[in-house]
Amino acid sequence: MRRKLAAGNWKMNGLRTDLAELEALAATFAAPKVDILLCPPATLLAPAAACSGPIAIGAQDCHAQDSGAHTGDVSAPMIKDAGANAVILGHSERRTDHGESSDAVRAKAVAAQAAGLTTVICLGESFKQREAANTLDIIGGQLSTSVPDGSTGENLVIAYEPIWAIGTGLVPNLDQIGEVHDFIRTRIERRFGAGVGRSVRLLYGGSVKPDNAADIFGVSNVDGALVGGASLKCADFSQIINALE
Ligand code: PGA
Repeated sequence: MRRKLAAGNWKMNGLRTDLAELEALAATFAAPKVDILLCPPATLLAPAAACSGPIAIGAQDCHAQDSGAHTGDVSAPMIKDAGANAVILGHSERRTDHGESSDAVRAKAVAAQAAGLTTVICLGESFKQREAANTLDIIGGQLSTSVPDGSTGENLVIAYEPIWAIGTGLVPNLDQIGEVHDFIRTRIERRFGAGVGRSVRLLYGGSVKPDNAADIFGVSNVDGALVGGASLKCADFSQIINALE
């Protein structure tokens, strides 16, 4: 049985004073019935890990190499050393802002898994691609190229995040979410076998809010959510976590 997972992505938001939201979350969910992961910006990884209680901490990106001459980058062992145990990879904002290809995402994921981090690998189609009925082709291509061969039920989480749903208030209908999640599950089972295929958690992401979370969590093969805006405040994120529990 897969343990459900509520993951928050603070993106480029958060100063040290905002750790009060994380502390409040840790107090609210002292003994959570689901896994909770919060991914603050890199500057807050170590202080977040020091005050997060039962809430796991993750980064939002890593470099494919462990160390070296890469000004401004952060490596997977550094993330682990800061007290985090997961990393989001291939978010559409990184694919767009930094031109990250699925090959680059896989290289980062190999490094992250080798460092002992759980990789939350993001996939998603644009609105144009959905309108052209190319969604499953796009997701299938991103999935096969972005996910490393060494993935297991422990070190791999997939987040399906339609680009047009991120930060827009738009959400695919439940049938559309279910279709993509079933497709991803089938593809993972086919590639990694039934055991791994059944244990990898599949998250939906894109405008998940307290008022739509329960419906989304009722869709088959949705094991939780990757939440952006609504993860910034304990009050909102708590309601989403409650809907998952
Ligand atoms: P959103 O972002 O919840 O603000 O739409 C989700 C994400 O980008 O992970």
